[in-house]
Amino acid sequence: RRPIIAIDGPAGAGKSTVTRRVAQSLNLLHLDTGAMYRAVAWLVMRSGISLDDEGAIAELVTQANLELIPAEPPNPTRVKINGEDVTETIRTPEVTAIVSQIAAKASVRQALVQQQQRYGKTGGIVAEGRDIGTAVFPDAELKIFLTASVEERAKRRWQDFKEQGREEISLEQLEQDIQARDYFDSHREIAPLQQAIDAIKIDTDKLSIEEVTEQIINLYEQ
Ligand code: C5P
Repeated sequence: RRPIIAIDGPAGAGKSTVTRRVAQSLNLLHLDTGAMYRAVAWLVMRSGISLDDEGAIAELVTQANLELIPAEPPNPTRVKINGEDVTETIRTPEVTAIVSQIAAKASVRQALVQQQQRYGKTGGIVAEGRDIGTAVFPDAELKIFLTASVEERAKRRWQDFKEQGREEISLEQLEQDIQARDYFDSHREIAPLQQAIDAIKIDTDKLSIEEVTEQIINLYEQ
């Protein structure tokens, strides 16, 4: 089996950009597990099912056809669910607002973790998420826990939004949203957001994307 790198951490710690770059330079497959939870959240929202309807959500997720289609870097992997391309829509504030509730459901985690482990069977991947090092790939060759202060993470998200011409959201609002999502993700029953005991923590507050990427590649090559 080729190696697996696990990258976990809270929202906005830079996981996506860094994981994409690490994957590109080590020629590994990038697995964005957050995108998978977002796609299911989108499907639940679109189906009009109540977020409390465990049975209906379980049925929906077990029958869903979720596809991740790798794109030429630096483009993000395309995400399709039941044939519909949701790559962009899964990043909207509406999906972000409910994704943690969906990700806390046992049926959803079971289905998605199973699919993630299938992707990892032959190794050669960098997976990012919240429970990669603790639950999805506990035997990963390298585990990284990326963090940054909530202020810094909110600032980065705000910068992203501004670059996309979406200035309707305030820094304070983003900070609150990030904090609420982290709290929810860290306090759910199944596989909560948590640093694996054998993970290496990188605090990215004062580091550039290039520096973080380089650190991870160095750790991998050691
Ligand atoms: O990484 P991203 O912000 O796209 O993740 C969206 C949400 O999906 C997280 O807030 C979390 O609730 C859920 N998630 C998870 N386990 C993962 C990846 C994401 O529960 N491995």
